[in-house]
Amino acid sequence: MKVTKTKTRTWYTNEASLQSPNSHSLLLEKFLFKIARNWVSGNTYADALSSARISNEKCISAILNFLGEDTTDERVIQQTVKEYIMLLELLESHSLDGCISVKPTQVGLRIGVDPCLFNLRQIAKRARSLNKFMWLDIESYPFVEDTIAIYLELLRDYKEVGVAIQSYLKRSSSDLLHLLEQNANIRLVKGAYTENEGIALRSMEKINSNFSELMKMVFNSDNKQNTIFAIATHDPRLISEAIELSRKFSTDRRKFEFQLLKGISNEMKTSLVKQGFRVCEYIPYGNQWLRYSVRRIKERKRNIFLLARSLIQS
Ligand SMILES: Cc1cc2nc3c(=O)[nH]c(=O)nc-3n(C[C@H](O)[C@H](O)[C@H](O)COP(=O)(O)OP(=O)(O)OC[C@H]3O[C@@H](n4cnc5c(N)ncnc54)[C@H](O)[C@@H]3O)c2cc1C
Repeated sequence: MKVTKTKTRTWYTNEASLQSPNSHSLLLEKFLFKIARNWVSGNTYADALSSARISNEKCISAILNFLGEDTTDERVIQQTVKEYIMLLELLESHSLDGCISVKPTQVGLRIGVDPCLFNLRQIAKRARSLNKFMWLDIESYPFVEDTIAIYLELLRDYKEVGVAIQSYLKRSSSDLLHLLEQNANIRLVKGAYTENEGIALRSMEKINSNFSELMKMVFNSDNKQNTIFAIATHDPRLISEAIELSRKFSTDRRKFEFQLLKGISNEMKTSLVKQGFRVCEYIPYGNQWLRYSVRRIKERKRNIFLLARSLIQS
């Protein structure tokens, strides 16, 4: 990471962004950071905590994510582990309602399953001692199998851990079945990476229909533990369907919640809270904001248009 001082402030150059800062690249980065701020709380944990407090004031729980992924740098990995442990402690000491969400490739999965599991255990141990929860994000296809295996290993010792499942993957219904048998905590998402059609559904219609099927599987399943089931989408049709299913099937023994991303569908969050549902907001922060923001921009054609328009205007 490069740190470049300008007259007014310090810009943290994302490693995936421009390598040799000149006035044009700095301007572009400044412009992109402004766009990224739609979805990212800021560069530091203080920004994340402040966003968490704002969410809590609206009766929304926070899910904090320290941005970063795909690293093999041992120093960065250890700093990331420390950051998550510190976040858990800060959530506790600031009496904030929240948890953390970790990407396995930011804590060693690029190096191997064992180092990643070792690092996640350190975080899970601290989370348990503070009575806090840890989610595992699920990333691109090459890491899915290992993430689920790591999750199931962690679950043996730590019940306060959950994992995401992507409805665009053809394998997800069999993964979900297996995870439900193990009393897993599940976050259901559509999936955010570009995958090939050998392994993933490509049409939105099919992805949505699989999302419905997976939701039904969870609501229908007999779960004797007090596990968490999170519906993580902004899709109003799927959210309505989830509400209907939650009313149809008893959710007494399953904690059911909606999870949405910071900066998206804010009115929906408020409306769900008013209807009495538990709502959580995923709040990313840190200087590795570029890849996360690009995924958010690509998700919606209108965002690409807005980006192009602001670029021309600026
Ligand atoms: C809490 C949470 C955790 C997640 N964790 C993971 C994970 O671990 N792994 C993973 O692969 N993916 C994850 N995702 C991302 C997810 O897979 C989707 O890429 C993302 O949620 C967009 O899909 P959607 O379900 O909202 O449906 P879409 O059909 O994409 O969107 C439905 C509606 O939501 C609104 N919307 C959606 N995206 C945007 C946007 N970027 N900007 C503005 N409006 C938008 C629009 O109104 C759109 O019409 C997570 C999402 C959430 C909410």
